[in-house]
Amino acid sequence: LLQLYAPLNFLGSIYSSIRNALVDLEHMFGLLEETVEVADPAHPLPIAARLHDAAPVSVAFRDVHFGYRPDREILHGVSFSAAPGTLVAIVGPTGAGKSTISRLLFRFYDVWSGHVMIDGHDVRAYRQADLRAAIGVVPQDTVLFNDTIGYNIAYGRLGATQEEIEHAARLAQVHDFIVSLPDGYGTRVGERGLKLSGGEKQRVAIARTILKDPRLLILDEATSALDTHTEREIQSALRAVSAERTTVVIAHRLSTVVDADEILVLADGRVQERGRHADLVAKGGLYAAMWAAQDAGMDDSAQTVPEKLPV
Ligand code: ATP
Repeated sequence: LLQLYAPLNFLGSIYSSIRNALVDLEHMFGLLEETVEVADPAHPLPIAARLHDAAPVSVAFRDVHFGYRPDREILHGVSFSAAPGTLVAIVGPTGAGKSTISRLLFRFYDVWSGHVMIDGHDVRAYRQADLRAAIGVVPQDTVLFNDTIGYNIAYGRLGATQEEIEHAARLAQVHDFIVSLPDGYGTRVGERGLKLSGGEKQRVAIARTILKDPRLLILDEATSALDTHTEREIQSALRAVSAERTTVVIAHRLSTVVDADEILVLADGRVQERGRHADLVAKGGLYAAMWAAQDAGMDDSAQTVPEKLPV
């Protein structure tokens, strides 16, 4: 029996290796399925990438239901629209689904039901590469390449001239800083070069986005408080990039929210309130409570939106 057991044991271990391999394959197919899910259409619609070549885009969410995992819906029927050239700010507590909305605009995932529309068509009608070329994002935290500061801006549109790069840097309020560096635009930055402050990095990201000139801009505002001077510089740089451009802001700062054409108050994956700042304050609901909570003692628009809604 023992003689029999050894080979059986051996076979057993082979069996379990094969089974593990199959599980791995299943995972792989799972991943493949996910990739297939966001596949390009057979006959994609063209979409202009740069504002230079076309009007700003229109954006709309129509009754969007979405979750990352089948057992947990995150957005429960979100609808809103942004007319070309307008600015929509999304505010709400942490985990409300704000970043999820921006990921769906990029079509990193497909919705469960409803539509994410750009230029009047579902994002599934476009090639992903074209869609992503038409959208620019200024993230909370910019990662710089280990290269020159000039290259880090030029990356927004490879092939741009030095003149265009400097024009973008001026608009982003970072040109004067760059020329004050020992090697100017040739100064190496990143992990192995000059370390830039958060505010400087963000202005480099803004210059990069100005150069990219996307038709849709997504701003993911930093939660961390900046000093008033840096805050002002960033705000004016952001105005330069969002002017005339359809913009969706994941807002943490009231200065952006106050001027928004529409504010969406998102909580638990639902738009609880919407409207302009003054109307929402007058309404006396959730937004008004948020505003009042941080308005106390506020003498500067650089105040951040509280992450927790007062009840
Ligand atoms: P914050 O203000 O903290 O950035 P948010 O409003 O942007 O929050 P989202 O990042 O959109 O919130 O997340 C919404 C919900 O989805 C959260 O509960 C989060 O845990 C979940 N979630 C986000 N990304 C994933 C993911 N890749 N896989 C699974 N769940 C996720």
